[in-house]
Amino acid sequence: MDNTSTIFDESKWLSFKKNIKKNVGDSAFNNWLKHLNYVSVEETTITFSVPTKFLRDWIVNNYSDKIKSEAKNHINNKVDTIKFVVKPSGGRIVPGTTRTIKSNDNHWKSTMDLRSNQSSIYPNEFGAPLDPRFTFENFVVGKPNELAFAASQRVSEANKITFNPLFLCGGVGLGKTHLMHAIGWKIKQQQPERKVIYLSAEKFMYQFVRALRYKDTSAFKEQFRSIDVLMIDDVQFISGKDNTQEEFFHTFNALIEQNKQIVISADKTPTDLDGVQERLKSRLGCGLVADIHPTTYELRLGILIEKAQKRGVEIPPKVLEFLSHRIISNVREMEGALNRLVAHATLVGTSITVETAQLVLQDLLKSSNKKITIEEIQKKVAEHFNIRITDMHSPRRSRSVARPRQIAMYLAKSITSRSLPEIGRKFGGRDHTTVMHAVKKIEELKLSDVNFNEDLELLKRLIDS
Ligand code: ADP
Ligand code: MG
Repeated sequence: MDNTSTIFDESKWLSFKKNIKKNVGDSAFNNWLKHLNYVSVEETTITFSVPTKFLRDWIVNNYSDKIKSEAKNHINNKVDTIKFVVKPSGGRIVPGTTRTIKSNDNHWKSTMDLRSNQSSIYPNEFGAPLDPRFTFENFVVGKPNELAFAASQRVSEANKITFNPLFLCGGVGLGKTHLMHAIGWKIKQQQPERKVIYLSAEKFMYQFVRALRYKDTSAFKEQFRSIDVLMIDDVQFISGKDNTQEEFFHTFNALIEQNKQIVISADKTPTDLDGVQERLKSRLGCGLVADIHPTTYELRLGILIEKAQKRGVEIPPKVLEFLSHRIISNVREMEGALNRLVAHATLVGTSITVETAQLVLQDLLKSSNKKITIEEIQKKVAEHFNIRITDMHSPRRSRSVARPRQIAMYLAKSITSRSLPEIGRKFGGRDHTTVMHAVKKIEELKLSDVNFNEDLELLKRLIDS
C-alpha cells in the first residue's frame, strides 16, 4: 500500500477542512463540522474524532458523503473506510463509540461499534457527575429542610419505593441539588448495584429532543432500562416546550410503571410550574412534594458553623452570628460571603472581625439595606434576647424584659430619626422621660461593661448597617 498511502499532514488537514467548508457552507460547517478532528490514517482507513455522540451521529448521517469524497481527494482514491470516534475536548477517546462507514462496490454502509449499546457505559455518559462535597453528612438539617432531608434519605436507603416521584422544591440556593447528589452518593456507597442517574432537566430535554429528531424515543426510553433511580434537577426549565412535554409525560409514566424511583427538583411546587400541562403537573405531584423553606436564622448559623469547621478556620461566633443575621437570601450567597471573608483575612493577614466582615462584604450587605423602623428594632432585639415582641409594649418591669426594652429604645433613638415622645408611644405609650432614662442607662452600661458594649455593637450592626 506504500505507493498509494499518502502522509496526511497539517496543511492537508487544513485544506481538507477548507474544502468541506466551501462545500457545505459556513453556517453548517460552524454548527456541525468545526469540531471534527483528524486522528489517523492507516492504510485505507481514515479516523476522525468528534466531541459528542450526538455530533458523531449527525455527521455520519448528513455529511459522510462529503467527507468521503474529500478524503479521496486529499489522501488517495483507495480510501474505503471512515471511522468516527467520540473524544470529548481535552479528554480521551471514549471506548465503544466508533462508527464506521465502509465502502463495498461504491455502496457505503455504516456500522456501529456494538459495545456502544451496552448499558454499562451509558449511565456515566448520560448522566452528570456528582459533586463530592454534596453529601448527607455535609448537609445541615433544620426546620426548613427537615422533610426534604428525611425524604431524600428514605429514597437512598430503601429498595422499596414508598413515594414516587419525590419532588423537591424550593428557591435558589436552598440545597435541592445538594440533596440529590447526596442521594446519589449514598446509593453508590451502600447499594452499588443500584444504578443512579442524575442530570439537569435541560440535559434531559436535549437528549429527548434529539431522540425525537431521530424518531427514536423508544431507544431513548431504553436507556433507562438498567437504571434504578433517575434524578432530574430544575424541571422548571421544561416549561413551555409543548410537544416535548407530551412525550416526556409518557416516558415519565412508563418509568414509574417500571418501578423506577424518580426524584425531581424545581424552584416551585408542581402546581405552580408555569407553562406545564395540567396532566404533567398532577403526575409530578402525585408522590411526595417536599418543600424546602427559606432558611431561618438558626439554620443559617448552623450551616456557617459547619462550613467554617470544614474549612478548618476559626471564626469568632459574633462574626458568624452577624453573617447569619445579615445574609438571608440563600445558602449559596452566605457560603460565598464566608469564602470571601476567609480569603481576605488570609491574604491581608488580619483577623476576622465584624468590622472586617462589614468592610469586605459591603456590596452583599448593602443589597439588604433599607430604612429601619422602630418595629424592626423591637423585633430584632426581642429575637436577640429571646423575649416576646409584646414585651416591648407591656408594662412588665422584670429585669429580663426591662433591659432589652431599654436597649431597643436606645437603638431607636440612635438609629432612627424619631423623637423621644414618638419612641415612647411605640413602646406601649410610655412617657418621653422613660425613653430618656433608658438612653442614659444604656450609655452608662456601655462605658462600664465591655461585654455589654460589644453585644450592643453587634446588635446595632445587625440592625442598621
Ligand atoms: P439549589 O440546588 O437549591 O439551588 P444547592 O443545592 O446548589 O441549591 O445549594 C447551594 C449551596 O448551598 C451548595 O454549596 C450547598 O452545599 C449549600 N447548602 C444549601 N443548603 C445546605 C444545608 N442545609 N447544609 C449545608 N449546605 C447547604
Ligand atoms: Mg440546583
